[in-house]
Amino acid sequence: MIKINRERCMYCGGCVGVCPANALTLNETMLTVSEACNDCGICVKFCPVGALEV
Ligand code: SF4
Ligand code: SF4
Repeated sequence: MIKINRERCMYCGGCVGVCPANALTLNETMLTVSEACNDCGICVKFCPVGALEV
């Protein structure tokens, strides 16, 4: 399960689109990760502000 740094996240929604497991959801300014996350790290590499870590 990834960790979300909510102070860094800019709510761009890009990570939601790149997740192959559809594990990320952005609701206004709240990004959440579900149990479907398999720690592949794609979103971590994608995030332009480094708000995600495995
Ligand atoms: S890509 Fe990064 S900044 Fe954009 S919504 Fe995801 S965690 Fe937030
Ligand atoms: S680590 Fe992979 S499966 Fe987990 S939220 Fe990020 S892109 Fe999706």
